[in-house]
Amino acid sequence: MIIDCHGHYTTTPPQHEAWRQAQLDAKGNPGSESPVITDDEIRESLEAVQLRLQRERGTDMTIFSPRAGGMGHHLGNEEMNRQWSINCNNLIRRVCDLYPENFAPVCQLPQAPGVSPSNCIPELVRCVEEMGFIGCNLNPDPSGGYWTDPPVTDPWWYGFFEKLEELQVPAMIHVSQSCNPNFHFTGAHYINADTAVFMQLLKSDLFTRFPGLKLIIPHGGGAVPYHWGRYRGIARDMKRPEPAELMNGNLYFDTCVYHQPGIDLLAGVVPVDNILFASEMHGAVRCMDPDTGFFFDDTRRYVESNAALSPEDKEKIYWKNATKVFSRLRIPTAMEQ
Ligand SMILES: [Zn+2]
Repeated sequence: MIIDCHGHYTTTPPQHEAWRQAQLDAKGNPGSESPVITDDEIRESLEAVQLRLQRERGTDMTIFSPRAGGMGHHLGNEEMNRQWSINCNNLIRRVCDLYPENFAPVCQLPQAPGVSPSNCIPELVRCVEEMGFIGCNLNPDPSGGYWTDPPVTDPWWYGFFEKLEELQVPAMIHVSQSCNPNFHFTGAHYINADTAVFMQLLKSDLFTRFPGLKLIIPHGGGAVPYHWGRYRGIARDMKRPEPAELMNGNLYFDTCVYHQPGIDLLAGVVPVDNILFASEMHGAVRCMDPDTGFFFDDTRRYVESNAALSPEDKEKIYWKNATKVFSRLRIPTAMEQ
């Protein structure tokens, strides 16, 4: 079984994002609380891409969340982002109801720069307790590239982390669009955020304070695996635990690294227990690698081709670790093997 722990609904019917644009233009709800989208339109939007790629690539289930670039926490105010998040999350729920064996739901949060993350708790609770969501995407920089809020290890975030711990749901640390022209969003802002948050965690006691908190840093952990020795050295100099000890049962990297040497490095330095299979398809990189003839985001090939990983290691990466991190995930019995 293969669980892809990182997929976004990047192919929504057009009226979904059109509603958001109209909301931003109107600086409030544009005459309706949500657009009308039929089940057939949802089916059409998924059959051609995500479901086809799942079949072609031999993955079973995708842990599915609203489009990360679409969260746009810097664009609306708190109330606008709340309604937008409700619409996005309700749509994800409908996807998972239509395809319960293919998708499991992760929610977007109604964050806004300068607004306490604890204000997101009602939407988190609605999603998890009322609608069966199994995780959330937490934006460490709702300003969209200007980093105006405190680090994720600051007490500013504690109330929200307490709730995550209580509900036993993980958060994927995931920024949205960049409005800072210095940072291209998928090429720089994403990787910067992954790396920056890892360093924030390395110098903090966050996981001592919240021992049940589980965070996922996507995109292979940003630049961290490549600079693993640097982080080990910084940790030792600061009399902090080594990175592997920090990660332990709290921090995970995914496999959204789009070439073989990158996956080989990730699997070579990061403990196998802390790696979750993911592809982020259909997302940041959509083209084919002319050197291999395969799509860059076909990440299963890289895991398969890694000779250093044992079959047991691969099982952990493909699904066993995911079931520990997403403890609310219920796998259809037919898929268990
Ligand atoms: Zn993503």
